[in-house]
Amino acid sequence: MPHYFAPLAYLPTGWHSDVCIEVDPNGMIVATTANHSGENCQRLSGALVPGMPNLHSHAFQRAMAGLSEQRNHPHDSFWSWREQMYQVALTITPEQMYQIARYLYIELLEGGYTSVAEFHYLHHDPTGQPYAPVDEMVDAISRAATDAGIALTLLPTLYSYSDFASAPPSQMQRRFIQSTEQYLRQIERIKPLIAGRAQQRMGGCFHSLRACTAQQITQVLEELPNDWPIHLHISEQQQEVNRSLAVHGTTPLHWLSEHVELDARWCLIHATHLSEAERHYAACQQAVIGLCPSTEASLGDGIFNAVDYLAQGGRIGIGSDSHVCTDVSEELRWLEYTQRLTAQQRNCLASRAHPSTGERLLRATLQGGAQALAQPVGQINTGFRADWLMLDLDNPWLMQTPSTHLLDSWLFAHPKRAIKAVMVAGRWRVQSGEHDIKAQASQALTDALRSLRQALS
Ligand SMILES: [Zn+2]
Repeated sequence: MPHYFAPLAYLPTGWHSDVCIEVDPNGMIVATTANHSGENCQRLSGALVPGMPNLHSHAFQRAMAGLSEQRNHPHDSFWSWREQMYQVALTITPEQMYQIARYLYIELLEGGYTSVAEFHYLHHDPTGQPYAPVDEMVDAISRAATDAGIALTLLPTLYSYSDFASAPPSQMQRRFIQSTEQYLRQIERIKPLIAGRAQQRMGGCFHSLRACTAQQITQVLEELPNDWPIHLHISEQQQEVNRSLAVHGTTPLHWLSEHVELDARWCLIHATHLSEAERHYAACQQAVIGLCPSTEASLGDGIFNAVDYLAQGGRIGIGSDSHVCTDVSEELRWLEYTQRLTAQQRNCLASRAHPSTGERLLRATLQGGAQALAQPVGQINTGFRADWLMLDLDNPWLMQTPSTHLLDSWLFAHPKRAIKAVMVAGRWRVQSGEHDIKAQASQALTDALRSLRQALS
């Protein structure tokens, strides 16, 4: 069994020096010992930090990042962006999905994410027929994760309607649309595929309260294993809240709570426009709020009141969603900075127990992310998987920083190439700042993007 010796490691109780970490052949941590002599250990030359779980990804949207930044409507918004996104969703093939997802997952690993929850609703071929008996899209995403070496929580997503009150879907949504029965059959079809791949598991998912009825949600919950996480987009846009008020006479989460009791399995994605009472309810039920600050900024969604939510003991995690940003430090910085710009204050998400903003953000999102992915990650600790990042202590900006400020310096002063190496399940995937198959994946991605963009033009 390999024993790693790190001069500095961030353990559950904070920074420790001279840490020996024993990892078993399955990539699980079996022991950590601080103040170790280093004898018979592989010596590492950086500071170890747990790898970040990414709780919200739509891998195919990476293919359009940067292509929606020109004004095509008098009032560009989430809804006009969505039209463009549908064009990509209608066109992409399983092979293109594999290449785009594999390269994206390589970028996520280099950016500090070691596991990802894929919120997947491209269930059908471009004519609207299911991929069966082999689900080629699921297989493409799963292989991409295996080949890049990132852990995966696959979330097949139920998507049946185009709006509240069971409004019929549009032609543009034909690759997403399933009945409850089709969804449950798909889950049974892909279960063995995911179960056969290391560091992969599944969860349940509802696209949104626009796309599913309460009856569908309760029926699916009865069928799914009760240790699966459950994800849902909610209250991302004010228009969605207004529609809910018009149709149901109440706000989305309040309406959901009348049909389903939320618990720690739930991950509410965005939740931007929750009311104060809804935030209180979500915090009490120990649900994770899945924040994607760079995408929420990109789409003009609004700002979640994270100060209030954390003060109530609420749980949060981060996701890169549309992948306009694939870097942990940038995502966390966006999270804190949106709160500062709103409150006109500094260090908004720090607390009395954790006065370092970087440390508080990291601890909260590691814990919330691990809960949302239902994977044994988020800590360098016995019983957790050996998923970690090695910060480069040869970087002069970090070398001269005391450990009390190291996380803040990494996350807020953003030294270039601060992450020197990344391990997932006991295997190094990034070394010297670069993923081991990046060059090969880059050529294949170029070919895939060329064919996708030709098909789109
Ligand atoms: Zn999303």
